[in-house]
Formats: sequence, C-alpha cells, structure tokens
Amino acid sequence: MNKYIEQVWTDVQAKNPNEPEFLQAVDEVFTTLTPVIESNKAYQQNAILERMVEPERVIMFRVPWVDDKGIVRVNRGYRIQMNSAIGPYKGGLRFDPSVNLSVLKFLAFEQVFKNSLTTLPMGGGKGGSDFNPKQSPHTPGKRCSDAEVMRFCQSFMTELFRHIGPDTDVPAGDMNVGGREIGYLFGQYKRLANEWTGVLTGKGLSFGGSLIRPEATGYGDVYFAENMLAMRKETFEGKKCVISGSGNVATYAAEKLMQLGAKVLTLSDRSGTILAKDGITEKMLQDIMVLKTVKRGELADFAKKTKAVKFFAGVNSWQVTDKIDAAFPCARQNELNGKDAEYLLKHGCQLVGEGANMPSTPDAIAAFVKAKIMYSPGKASNAGGVATSGLEMSQNSERLSWSREEVDAKLKGIMKSIHDNAWEAAAKYGQKGNYVMGANIAGFTKVADAMIAQGVC
Ligand code: NDP
Repeated sequence: MNKYIEQVWTDVQAKNPNEPEFLQAVDEVFTTLTPVIESNKAYQQNAILERMVEPERVIMFRVPWVDDKGIVRVNRGYRIQMNSAIGPYKGGLRFDPSVNLSVLKFLAFEQVFKNSLTTLPMGGGKGGSDFNPKQSPHTPGKRCSDAEVMRFCQSFMTELFRHIGPDTDVPAGDMNVGGREIGYLFGQYKRLANEWTGVLTGKGLSFGGSLIRPEATGYGDVYFAENMLAMRKETFEGKKCVISGSGNVATYAAEKLMQLGAKVLTLSDRSGTILAKDGITEKMLQDIMVLKTVKRGELADFAKKTKAVKFFAGVNSWQVTDKIDAAFPCARQNELNGKDAEYLLKHGCQLVGEGANMPSTPDAIAAFVKAKIMYSPGKASNAGGVATSGLEMSQNSERLSWSREEVDAKLKGIMKSIHDNAWEAAAKYGQKGNYVMGANIAGFTKVADAMIAQGVC
C-alpha cells in the first residue's frame, strides 16, 4: 500500500472500530488502488479517499409496528446515503436480523463502485432494517404474516419517505425484500408524497416495474462469466457449476446457466445444501422457485420429497461434490472462506462468479487471484441488478415500458461493458486478468474524477 492510502486506512480503522464488514470492504478496495493513486496526485490533494469512506449522510430511525396479536414491536431502520457524485443515491433495502450499521456501510461503499461500473448515472446507497420477516415475533417457527410485513413496511416508509425521491435516492430490494415488500413500500410512499414516481425499483409490472428486473442480477452474473470464458475461447456447455443460495440471485443464475448448457449441481439455504449429481432439472428449479417465493419454505422440505437430490444439513455448497468447473456464491457475505477456496481449486474450479455482495473472505480472494483463475468480484458481476434498476428508472421517466428482449439486450451489453472496462483497467496497470483490481480502479476513477470536478463537497 502507498503511504497516503496507509494513512487513510489507519484513520478509517480508528474511526470505525466496531464495523468489521465495512473495514473489510474498504481494505479490499484500498489494497488495489496504489497504481492509480500514484499516477494522479490530484486524488490525494483533494482528499478523495478520506471523503469516499465517509458517508454523505447516515439516517437511522425507529420503526414501530403492531403484530397480529396486537403487540407493539420496535425495529431499527437505516438508510446510508454514501456518495452522490455521479447520480442520485441508488441501492437496495435489506430486512434481516443481521442488519446493522457495519453491514449497511459495507454494502453502500461497494454500491458506489458497482453503480459507477454500470456506466449509468447512479450514486451509491443502501438501507434496511433488523426486521425478520422469516420469524414471527409471537409464534416460534412461523413466518410473519403478509399483514405484519405490510404494517412493518408502511411504518418503515413513514420515516424513509422524507429522505428519498426519484431525483434524490431510489431504493430497491435486497435480501428478504422482494416484490411483495416493494409493493407495500411503494404504496405507502405514494400516499405520503402524493405523487406517482419511480421512487423505488423492483416494482410489479402493473405499476412501473421493468421486465427482466427480477432475473437481472442472476442473469447478469452469468453474462459476466460468459465474457470471462470468451477471453479463453470457452463456453458453459457441459460445465459443472455449484451455486449457493436459492433466493432471487441464485435461482436466476441457475436458470441462465442451464439455458447455456451448464449442469447446475447445487443450491443452498439456511437449512443446508441440495446436490443433484446429474444436474438440477428445469422442473426442480421451478418447484424450488415456488417453494422459496410463494410457499416460503426450506430446501430441507424439498429434499424430503425429491429422490434425485442428496441433502447436506447446515452445510454450504462448496465441499459436497468432487468435480467442479465453476462456482457462483449467491447467498450472503463471507460465505466462502480460504478452506472452501482451497477445496474448489483442488477440485478443478476455474471460474468463480460472485452473485452476492462480498461472499468470499479475503484469504479466499487471495487464493483465487494467486491461482489466476477467472474470478469476478460481486461489485462487477452482480451489477446487472442495479443496472436494470437504472433501466427501470429510465422507463418510468419516459412513461414507457420496453420489451423483454430490449431490456435483456441492454443488460447483456452493460455486462460486457463492465467486463471490458475491468479487463482494460487491470491490463493498463500490468495486472491482466485481475478483475478485482480492474473493477476497483474502473469504478473508483469515474467517481473520483466527478468529485474533483464538483469541488470540495
Ligand atoms: P434472497 O433473500 O432472495 O436470497 C438469499 C439466499 O441466501 C436465500 O437462499 C437464503 O436462505 C440464503 N441465506 C441468507 N442468509 C443465510 C445464512 N446465514 N446461511 C445460509 N444461507 C443464507 O436474496 P438475494 O438473492 O436478493 O440476494 C443474495 C445476495 O446477492 C446478497 O448478498 C445481496 O446483497 C446480493 N445482491 C442482490 C441483488 C438483487 O438484485 N437481489 C443485487 C446485487 C446483489 P433462506 O431462504 O433460508 O433465508
């Protein structure tokens, strides 16, 4: 690390001692920026790094709501408005008991670089709550009812609405925030603001949503990987892939991989991993999508009813089979560690395409980079979701809806641009094929230059 970066890194650690995820995300970016910081003194003179690690605004608020038994519950809500140099804040909302300031600051920090990479004018933000829609507060083992989720979302938006707007901050979904939640949040925003605008993305098709938005992150992850393979003149035909997660990103990554002729061997959730030695079939995938999004059940239940799969309770997807060509971590942060990386590399894995945000731990990343496999960091390869959110914003502003083919073609084009920009930035600084460095530098430069042009603000 160069001296200036080291100084800022020491200060960030001192200022944020209780935020391990945020520090991990900053460290991952800082360790790759030396060549670009040294090649342009203006970045240091304008204190760009010091400003980038300090959110423009952190909003933290009380979310009181009433459960089905009439008991008042209180959760904590957040919105981190990290950086608006290149556009309105943009980034998802996550509802999960693991949500805290550190997790959301890491996600918001990553989002700044990711949004910059999309080539669209979007700043970075992230928000959410420690609310757990998967656990009713009054009945152990049961989920919150739709009415409880609605009351929570309405209360959450009652505070959030004054901080967001179509030209200020445009939230979307993330973990546990899908079509149902976005619908309730949008309805409440509309009532409070007395306006119908594209203030949230991931909306239903009947009220301004974009075709392909649900599929976009998973599809985009696979499109990015296709571009990496193309550099080695390879395709997905016959490749054996392991995927973690069985939510939005994982299931659509699986669908696209299967369409491209790959074999998807695993999916996972909090209950464990399913392994289909001959590949998950289209019918199985459809059943899993219904199980997770409609019945809101677990893979453990699916495995009980399906003979063609083996179930590994409480285990992730990385070490349950022995022939692996590609891995797609699509569930959560830090879900793939150094030992998993070692196993994957030993068993033939040549490609890791991150669908989740920061799913690989620093030692796993180091192992992938050292082995020179095709490894794409989430901020580049999962940017298809937010990019399509950007396309949803454009359609809302135009009061138009584009066709499925049109949006898919734009998504493909954006993923190719992100790939090529990351590839070229890495090559420019002598690290050909290092997508970690390439994505960080390409994302950083655009935001940093915009910040300098806008003066000290
Ligand atoms: P979902 O909530 O739809 O799915 C998350 C999946 O991860 C579920 O299968 C869930 O299992 C599993 N999971 C979550 N926590 C754990 C845990 N502690 N142990 C084991 N499994 C776990 O979320 P998404 O698919 O939307 O998001 C997945 C990742 O992708 C996140 O990192 C998110 O930030 C990132 N991302 C998402 C985007 C999007 O457009 N949705 C855009 C860019 C990034 P279970 O069902 O049992 O809870």
